[in-house]
Amino acid sequence: MSNFSLNKSEIKSKYDVIVLGAGIAGLICGTFLAKQGKKVLIIEQHSIPGGYCTSFKRKGFIFDAAVHHIGGCGKWSVVGRCLKELDININFLRLDPMDSIHFPSFSVEIPADIDDYVDLLKERFPSESKKISLFFKEFIRLYRATFSTDEHEMLIKYQDLTYKEMLENFFTDEQLKMTLSAQWGYIGSPPHEVSAIGMCQMLVNYLKDGAYFPVGGTQNFADAITQKFIDYGGHIMLSSSVETISTDSNIIKGVTTNKGGEIMADTFVSNIDPKQTFLRLLDKNTVDSSFLHRIENMKESVSFFLLYLGLDNRVDLKKLKRGFYHTSNNLSASDSDWFYISVPTEVDSSLAPDNKQIISVVVSSRDSYDDIDNWDTYKDKMKKYTLNYLENFVPDIQNHIVVTDAATPKTLYRYTHNSKGAAYGGAVTVDQTWSNRLPHTTPFKNLFLAGHWTNPGPGICAVVSSGWRVANMILNN
Ligand SMILES: Cc1cc2nc3c(=O)[nH]c(=O)nc-3n(C[C@H](O)[C@H](O)[C@H](O)COP(=O)(O)OP(=O)(O)OC[C@H]3O[C@@H](n4cnc5c(N)ncnc54)[C@H](O)[C@@H]3O)c2cc1C
Repeated sequence: MSNFSLNKSEIKSKYDVIVLGAGIAGLICGTFLAKQGKKVLIIEQHSIPGGYCTSFKRKGFIFDAAVHHIGGCGKWSVVGRCLKELDININFLRLDPMDSIHFPSFSVEIPADIDDYVDLLKERFPSESKKISLFFKEFIRLYRATFSTDEHEMLIKYQDLTYKEMLENFFTDEQLKMTLSAQWGYIGSPPHEVSAIGMCQMLVNYLKDGAYFPVGGTQNFADAITQKFIDYGGHIMLSSSVETISTDSNIIKGVTTNKGGEIMADTFVSNIDPKQTFLRLLDKNTVDSSFLHRIENMKESVSFFLLYLGLDNRVDLKKLKRGFYHTSNNLSASDSDWFYISVPTEVDSSLAPDNKQIISVVVSSRDSYDDIDNWDTYKDKMKKYTLNYLENFVPDIQNHIVVTDAATPKTLYRYTHNSKGAAYGGAVTVDQTWSNRLPHTTPFKNLFLAGHWTNPGPGICAVVSSGWRVANMILNN
């Protein structure tokens, strides 16, 4: 990993733009601005850039902290186009099959090509064949409408519907509805809560444009953008936490960090949790009261428990198909859990030394953040639960572990400062999606918001789009 951070003496007292947070949205936004000649400073509290898109090393194993794969990296899709515009080269591996889903009663392997997936579903659910064609036609129309600048009829039609309601308008077969809902973990709310538009944006993006893995790990994605930002003349301060934001009427003046001193700018972009921006860093009395009320009432998305295992090269992991493993056939049941299990070394063997292997597991966390008072006990409980589940596929797994690490919602909070370790910013529910999601503009004329709490929503592809949009808003101002 490179050392990108400037020394304190190299930091100027005034910039054109200051970006708070080096998540992917902040990095993309800063790089577009720097490319156009703006003097930009990015301030990041962690020692490495990327937010949730980072990796860490243990005993020669490279573990991806959170992000497992990235949608929309093809030449013509959002991430692909963005990287081309910025002249950033990253080697990606396209995942094929795209995914797999498992329920106690059945499994489906999801092909990398959407037409193949539609054919597979029609073969499996012949009585719903016609409806499957109609559903995917409608789903792709809805996806395209999200790129339109007009208030499209499709968006009006689905703005107030949950994904479950959308599916029920098309299908009666329960297994088919389960199949089409099984990947809800990628957006963080179950089908009866998640917005139909939000689920459509995530799912069509993966099914149509593919899922990609950056060779060498997800840190390489963040590092490549950071390097380009620096090449375009950008400044970045790592291990530097923004502590306060100062204002003069409805204009932001500057920020202070834990390194001391105030740094001024004409324009500011916050890529960090808006609850932190408006309720902690700014003086609440300076913020418009109805906007403040909205921020205070925003619901966080789910958070996760994560288990990272480095294994020797003697254990056979062929039975572990990358994908979602649901513990119940009823996705809305209160005791329904899922595990997202992957073997990243099957995709990229360079992540582990000497043909050793990695298993990474994301577990949906049913415990409420505020109810957990002992995080060590919670971590031990979740670790045992996850290892017990893995033993269904690899009975002697415990004999092959070389290195273990784990993350709880508290860990996710510590590394990114997303409230309650929210994996996807604000929950992607009907009342917080599309026109109901937080806008990029704020009551402060020169403060913009980018990242997964704002439009279009969570996931790397969406936050790339968010950062790019905000850069254009600033450049066209
Ligand atoms: C376990 C998990 C798995 C996921 N898997 C995937 C996946 O496979 N594919 C996918 O597309 N998406 C995935 N996501 C979602 C995706 O990672 C996020 O939606 C996305 O990375 C959010 O990017 P962001 O730019 O909005 O901000 P964040 O990644 O939240 O970054 C915000 C940055 O701001 C910094 N910061 C916060 N406060 C301050 C402060 N006061 N001063 C300075 N800096 C500060 C933080 O340290 C952080 O670097 C996953 C998320 C999780 C948690």
